Amino acid sequence: MKHELTCIVCPRGCLIQLVKDEEHYICTGNQCKRGEVYAIQEVTEPRRMFTTTVQIVGSKLSRCPVVSSSAIRKEDIFKIRDILDGLVIHAPIQVNDIIVENILGTGIHIIASRSIKKDA
Ligand code: SF4
Repeated sequence: MKHELTCIVCPRGCLIQLVKDEEHYICTGNQCKRGEVYAIQEVTEPRRMFTTTVQIVGSKLSRCPVVSSSAIRKEDIFKIRDILDGLVIHAPIQVNDIIVENILGTGIHIIASRSIKKDA
């Protein structure tokens, strides 16, 4: 099976062809090893950084932006979104506070991407 994809690891955006024989992937078009690693992961277990907001109380702001500590499997995105949709956190929050530890047992944390102070 042949895959053609654009590497998104750096701005060069190499057009990569990936072909699988019986056992191995053969990668062409990439200008560095990172492109091969990206391409194989993209066709076997695609991952993305995840960002959203969660409800916060005790502040003038009603939502706190959060981000995953590393890229999560695309197939987990909707499950993680559902967990975070039902979550309410309390101000104050500091940037990089862990909001959900080891979400879905992935070893990945959901962390605050900004500080939000408590308002009276
Ligand atoms: S293959 Fe290497 S040089 Fe090309 S876009 Fe990917 S990271 Fe950049």
